[in-house]
Amino acid sequence: MTPENKEVRVRFAPSPTGHFHIGGARLALNNFLFSRKNNGKFVLRIEDTDKERSKKEFEKEIYESLRWLGIEWDEGPVSFSGEEKEVGDYGPYRQSERSHIYKKYLEKLLEEKKAYFCYCTKEELEAQKAVMEADGLIYKYNGHCRNLKNPPIGKTPQTIRFVMPETKVEFKDLIRGKVVFDSSNFGDLVIAKDLESPLYNFAAVVDDYEMKITHVIRGEDHISNTPKQILIQKALGFPEVTYAHLPLILSPDRKKLSKRFAETSLLSYRDEGYLPEALINFLILLGWHPKDEKEIFSLNELIEEFDLKRVQKAGAIFNEEKLDWINGKYIRNLPLEEILKKVKPFLSKENISAEDNFILKIINIEKERMKTLKDIINLGKFFFKLENYDANLLIWKNTPKEKIKQILEKIYNIFKEIKDSDFNKFSISEKITEIINLNNYSRGEVFWPLRVALSGLSASPDPVEILDVLGKNETLKRIEIALNKLSL
Ligand code: GLU
Ligand code: ZN
Repeated sequence: MTPENKEVRVRFAPSPTGHFHIGGARLALNNFLFSRKNNGKFVLRIEDTDKERSKKEFEKEIYESLRWLGIEWDEGPVSFSGEEKEVGDYGPYRQSERSHIYKKYLEKLLEEKKAYFCYCTKEELEAQKAVMEADGLIYKYNGHCRNLKNPPIGKTPQTIRFVMPETKVEFKDLIRGKVVFDSSNFGDLVIAKDLESPLYNFAAVVDDYEMKITHVIRGEDHISNTPKQILIQKALGFPEVTYAHLPLILSPDRKKLSKRFAETSLLSYRDEGYLPEALINFLILLGWHPKDEKEIFSLNELIEEFDLKRVQKAGAIFNEEKLDWINGKYIRNLPLEEILKKVKPFLSKENISAEDNFILKIINIEKERMKTLKDIINLGKFFFKLENYDANLLIWKNTPKEKIKQILEKIYNIFKEIKDSDFNKFSISEKITEIINLNNYSRGEVFWPLRVALSGLSASPDPVEILDVLGKNETLKRIEIALNKLSL
């Protein structure tokens, strides 16, 4: 509740005209946290007034993304659990289904002469624009149809325009403080194509009122719409709302976020093996300073800590390494069994199947290095299948090939004698140390070829860890393969 005892109501109002990406997720999250922090309501509104560009599949993607993140909406076209909702007091919120509501307010404005039909065709508007620009003026609609007594004969209305007052518009932004705009060069804004087809600025104002929205939290890219919306609000006699414009997300060089990140759909982060909790943590740290140095927050802690006042004005830097770091931390904090559950779909996508115990051992070894769930594949593939590798990889520095071969043979023979049940990293560590000491080998001469033999890679975990996972049979098999390569 606000001090005036009004229930806090915020909305997230995406347009289903493209993939849902991190920008949208961050807006949703900020609204969600704000509502939860203030015991308010979080409304989901699908702004699909653009009939050509709005697509059902993008709308579905919005629901799926929010559900994956666990951002639960209180009111909206479908329930959080997925089924279409009954029309209730406040729903459903799809602008395409609400034209009767906008129509009512459009008619009111027309009646009160605060809006009018514009008959200018596209060509005529372009001609007007050319004339103004030739005079060195910044284009705005010249108001040609504002005071028409009668509709021009033989012409049909093209749009509905709002009579834009020329004034100073001031509002208080929770993040930016006082913001002032001069509306004198806005020109009479087109607010609808016709009575049935309102455009964004108008529909948003009507909905914010009808849905009893108290706080509009949205991206800074909308800040120039705010004075227009305030003037429409005033013309309709609606109460004011409070605004907060979140800074844009920038790339690390403080430039516009590259397409690669800006247009990556949120669900592709899921498919790349990011955890929703980690992504939420990351998104909220974008442009937001927690009180102390703490960087890892649960959703409940975020609700507790959330305060729009702590959002900085400057652009928020999108740092992919930070996301990886946070994600890695979240993965490591999970119980092994939980990681197992989450990596399995990634393994099956690669047609890798193995026993749970085997996978668990791999997770145990690799989890320190895993940044995403998918890394189980990038890092651990060799456990499941040894790829072909070049024989030269087995050679340690200047050690002659023959000697490497002898060493591996020795290891092979000794390993063979170890009982299956004794074949573990402790007993083997001891054995290897023995081999090194007895023969005066360097550690590199022994560990390097053994590691390559077991992994086929130049970088991998400690060979003793690997053979502990692989077990005796597979270890011997792989050393044999290495010996064959060295014999060629
Ligand atoms: N539909 C608008 C968008 O997706 C929402 C703007 C607003 O929050 O008012 O950008
Ligand atoms: Zn006109």
